[in-house]
Amino acid sequence: MEAILIIVLVGNLLIELVLSVLNQKNILKPWPKEVRGIFSQAQVKRAVEYSQANFRFGAIAKVISTAIMVIMITEGGFNFVNGFVIDMTNNELIQALLYFGILMGANQLISIPFSYYQTFVIEDKFGFNNSTVKLFVADIIKSLLLGAVIGGGLLWLLGFLIDYMGSSFWLVFWGVVVIIMIFVNTFYTSLLLPIFNKLSPIGDEDLKKEIFDHCHKVGYKLSNLFQMDGSKRSKKANAFFSGMGPKKTIVLYDTLIEGQSNEEIVAVLAHEIGHYKKKHTTFNLFFGIAQMFGILWLLGWAINQPELSIGLGVNEPKFYTGLIAFFILFSPVSFIIGMFQNILSRKMEYQADAYAKQSYNGEKLIEALKKLSVDNLSNLNPHPAYVFFKYSHPPIHKRIKAIRS
Ligand SMILES: [Zn+2]
Repeated sequence: MEAILIIVLVGNLLIELVLSVLNQKNILKPWPKEVRGIFSQAQVKRAVEYSQANFRFGAIAKVISTAIMVIMITEGGFNFVNGFVIDMTNNELIQALLYFGILMGANQLISIPFSYYQTFVIEDKFGFNNSTVKLFVADIIKSLLLGAVIGGGLLWLLGFLIDYMGSSFWLVFWGVVVIIMIFVNTFYTSLLLPIFNKLSPIGDEDLKKEIFDHCHKVGYKLSNLFQMDGSKRSKKANAFFSGMGPKKTIVLYDTLIEGQSNEEIVAVLAHEIGHYKKKHTTFNLFFGIAQMFGILWLLGWAINQPELSIGLGVNEPKFYTGLIAFFILFSPVSFIIGMFQNILSRKMEYQADAYAKQSYNGEKLIEALKKLSVDNLSNLNPHPAYVFFKYSHPPIHKRIKAIRS
């Protein structure tokens, strides 16, 4: 089992590296005609450098994180932590919380220098970073607390249900996870997002009027429209749709509003409304719920297999020690699921673009997409294989082609 786990870990790393190398080489090849001329000569050079910097950084981070996992397995790291928490207490639920608390805490500590480098060196060098050390630290503390509350709560519940219900625990656990998923999906912008960002009404009156006119025309009941202070972290721009029913929300980054004309912003908004009209968010939620059913059904079987814990080098298997091995073994499956998810998501983007074209203006959307690519220094010539596995949105040249067809 130990060998299988290591093969899966190293295999994942190799696939990721091959895809990134292909992608990195492709940016130097001639770009599709739809995207030629969007960047100035200087911007092309910067986009290539930006992509190279991210590629190198990503590759090093992946190699190091895989190496740490392999060393933890072969050198008995997981066994050491397990022995330590068993010495601390006899209560298996507390052992589980301590075990994951230590491992996740260590994981966070290791990742801090990486995210610091990404934000304050790479993003800073290319002029994207607006974050401060104070904000960076506050973000880490908030996500740690949030992760501890949600992750800790779920882990406790999992242990409790296994103890209480035996092998049928997974069905009830799935039920609880489904309720949480629906809750988070519905209240994301009103409860979770405000922990990190400030949402406020659109300030620009002209823009507001154009948006309301458009929504009225297409019969979209606009109850929650916000601008978000994305600029406090980065100069990059974005927009998204979230939630369902009366809680449906459209969020525009302040950086998007600042950089684009009113017509371009309405075109982006029309695209987001397209996601709603075509019921994409609801579909994604149900896809996630179905996927969770499959994962937990498998977990129901895996939790009683001590081989998983032994494969990680753990001498005294507990319900919680096998979880990490389970997710390693599941990662090739989730790679495939992610691939299907991306195929579907790209289809949805084309549908939302087509909706924006039909309900508003295709050329304005193209202008907006071009500006977004410039502002974000996007890779305008990604490798088809990388796009196939990794891209949730089609590359810009394909979107432009589809909108014009
Ligand atoms: Zn979209």
